[in-house]
Amino acid sequence: MTATSAVHAGRITTNPTPPIDLSATYHLPGVDAGGESYAELVAGRGPTAEGGLVYQRMWNPTTAGFEQALAELEGLPEAVSFGSGMAAISACLLAATAVPAAGGKRHIVAVRPIYGGTDGLLSKGTLGTEVTWVDEVAGIAPALAARPDTALVVVETPANPTARLLDLDAVAAACGDVPFLVDSTFATPVLQQPARHGATLVVHSATKYIGGHSDVLGGVVATTAEWAARLRDIRIQTGALLHPLAGYLLHRGLQTLPLRVKRASETAQTVAEWLARQPAVERVHYPGLPGGDPDGLVGPDRQLLLPGAMMAFEMRGGYDAAAAVAENVRLILHAASLGGAESLITHPASLSHRNVAPDARPDAGLLRFSIGLEDAEDLVADLDTAFAKL
Ligand SMILES: *Cc1c(COP(=O)(O)O)cnc(C)c1O
Repeated sequence: MTATSAVHAGRITTNPTPPIDLSATYHLPGVDAGGESYAELVAGRGPTAEGGLVYQRMWNPTTAGFEQALAELEGLPEAVSFGSGMAAISACLLAATAVPAAGGKRHIVAVRPIYGGTDGLLSKGTLGTEVTWVDEVAGIAPALAARPDTALVVVETPANPTARLLDLDAVAAACGDVPFLVDSTFATPVLQQPARHGATLVVHSATKYIGGHSDVLGGVVATTAEWAARLRDIRIQTGALLHPLAGYLLHRGLQTLPLRVKRASETAQTVAEWLARQPAVERVHYPGLPGGDPDGLVGPDRQLLLPGAMMAFEMRGGYDAAAAVAENVRLILHAASLGGAESLITHPASLSHRNVAPDARPDAGLLRFSIGLEDAEDLVADLDTAFAKL
């Protein structure tokens, strides 16, 4: 994707900002015309020109503009937005398993580590799915061979919380005809476009980098026209839609996404190198450090343009040292979430990954670190002060 497309995609007016349409409902020009538009919307396609938009849960032009832009940036024909990243992932699971086209398949193969919420949703089987967990791409093909009733493969790269990278071409080869979902939240379309490697569903928690300012929740799935229709039908049925004001903010966020992601990634490289030199730190997980990209996936024209702005580090002093760092930083905010203008630090084992099975839970000494838009030297000084108190 280009910076130019980030600024202009999905903007259909001659004004610099797209209109915000807050209408809950719309005038129906005729009974037949309204009914026909309703039928098209329920089929997951879009409103007819004659019948109108009908009702906000079925269609909203402000969120549709954001969706069109995100699809363009991902190099996919369509995108469907949701009220949060988890609503987007839930809709994907339903679209893969709970529709007639799924042919009764309900089994999922997923690679750990993965965002704790996704881990919980799959582990609990809340949506009627059954999961086989694997921890390497090499585990996917055997897991699929053992379960021909697999509807979907779910992966995340870079993965939450350790920024571990998965080779998406290898994932595609292992999946064969089975569709696969990539949670690309950490990468954004600026660094990675999973559709180029065969992904069927590309998911973002738009709450993170796409919004970029820690002030809006949203989720979005870029995909093919056929899967988009399934997802829109599910969105209409479950009501998990994105509010138009949130859609407006996310669309606005796309304009500065390349600038923010590239700058934060540069800063992250500096901070990661500093962390790797600290005696109190046992290990830094960051794709930009030696050993952090064993499959050679980072670089121009590769899977991931830059190493990104997410990292994790393990303290030698285990839980106590990690807790002390989280509690003693002052500029860096100890808080859940990531991808905002401000740097955020969290302790995954007690927060985002608290309910992950013990054998797959992150180390108690591990901190996840989202690098924001501050100056690198200020972040380093803040960490240095917190480390001095250990
Ligand atoms: C935060 C996050 C989610 C969940 O998104 P919400 O918007 O909080 O529902 C999913 N995947 C990843 C990788 C995340 O970081």
